[in-house]
Amino acid sequence: MTEPTTLADLPLREDLRDEHPYGAPQLDVPVVLNVNENPYPVAPQIVADIAAAVAQAAAGLNRYPDREFLDLRADLAAFLRTESGADLAPEQVWAANGSNEVMLHVLQAFGGPGRTALSFAPTYSMYPEYARDTLTTWVTGHRETDFTIDLDHAREQIRLHRPSVVLLTSPNNPTGTALPLATVEAVLEAAGNAVVVVDEAYGEFRRTGTPSALELLPRYGNLAVSRTMSKAFSLAGARVGYLAASTAFVDALRIVRLPYHLSAVTQATARAALKHSATLLSTVDELRTRRDETVVWLRGNGFEVAESDANFVLFGRFEDRHAVWQGLLDRGVLIRETGPAGWLRVTVGTADEMQQFRTALQEVVGQQ
Ligand code: PMP
Repeated sequence: MTEPTTLADLPLREDLRDEHPYGAPQLDVPVVLNVNENPYPVAPQIVADIAAAVAQAAAGLNRYPDREFLDLRADLAAFLRTESGADLAPEQVWAANGSNEVMLHVLQAFGGPGRTALSFAPTYSMYPEYARDTLTTWVTGHRETDFTIDLDHAREQIRLHRPSVVLLTSPNNPTGTALPLATVEAVLEAAGNAVVVVDEAYGEFRRTGTPSALELLPRYGNLAVSRTMSKAFSLAGARVGYLAASTAFVDALRIVRLPYHLSAVTQATARAALKHSATLLSTVDELRTRRDETVVWLRGNGFEVAESDANFVLFGRFEDRHAVWQGLLDRGVLIRETGPAGWLRVTVGTADEMQQFRTALQEVVGQQ
């Protein structure tokens, strides 16, 4: 072909014709509080250990990596034992390039044409994309005005749609809402043999007394709990997400994964980081405290704020949220325009970043 090729010339799937690549703006501004990253970089000593582990892996890069990566799965199981007291064999743990890919494996294995995945909106905006890409029908029930899930409504949605996959997000993105275990159990009881995934990407930030769904794993072979190293571990750039479930559940994911999907470099990075999990997670308490302070400050300044167990806060409500988002950006502070109409989401950053956010917000709202 000599003519320049456009998308219209290519046999793109019809259902993808009007779609755009997903992603928040990646802008070079002083204060980046838009994608729920940890604001603290990995400490130099840990960087050095990761670099040494990667150098060792690099010496063997002529070979494919360990396809089953049981050493990494054992390290992740050991971490979950320390963090939540979960008693898991390495075969009960799965990992991939971010929990995004873990969730895609779930939909590839348990969704598909003629099948339905159910969640409760507002929730994480990538879920419908995993469903689209696996040709799974996507349906959502609703959350209450405080963003919790009503049990009768959840049961009714399951009865109505007969999903093969139910996605529960706790703490939920973008609202920050954690679910009581009673909700997860009610969904599991109603779900029959459908799989239920509790996405705990922000689990480490939960408030004291909020339990993890990992507790329920010994009783439900169709339950999975997904986690990530992107947030609490400060390792978003490494792309490591993981999931804990029954061995049978994990075996289903092993069928759909691409061979060698987790590179030797990624495995080495994750294992080196996990040796330092206590140090890496030492930022979590500080971020939780600053999250709670941010909630108090926003409420004190007359904003409506959703309860948060995560490292971000949903606040509002604004007649024109885009104008507020833009006003903050004009002052060098990037937050996220997401969630129900009128709300905005801010990630918890360093003390200095949050001060800049507060100052900018007061200026922007004062001008309106
Ligand atoms: N689940 C939720 C609820 C999230 O908010 C995110 C990241 N924004 C992810 C999963 C994916 O995280 P990652 O792929 O970096 O592990």
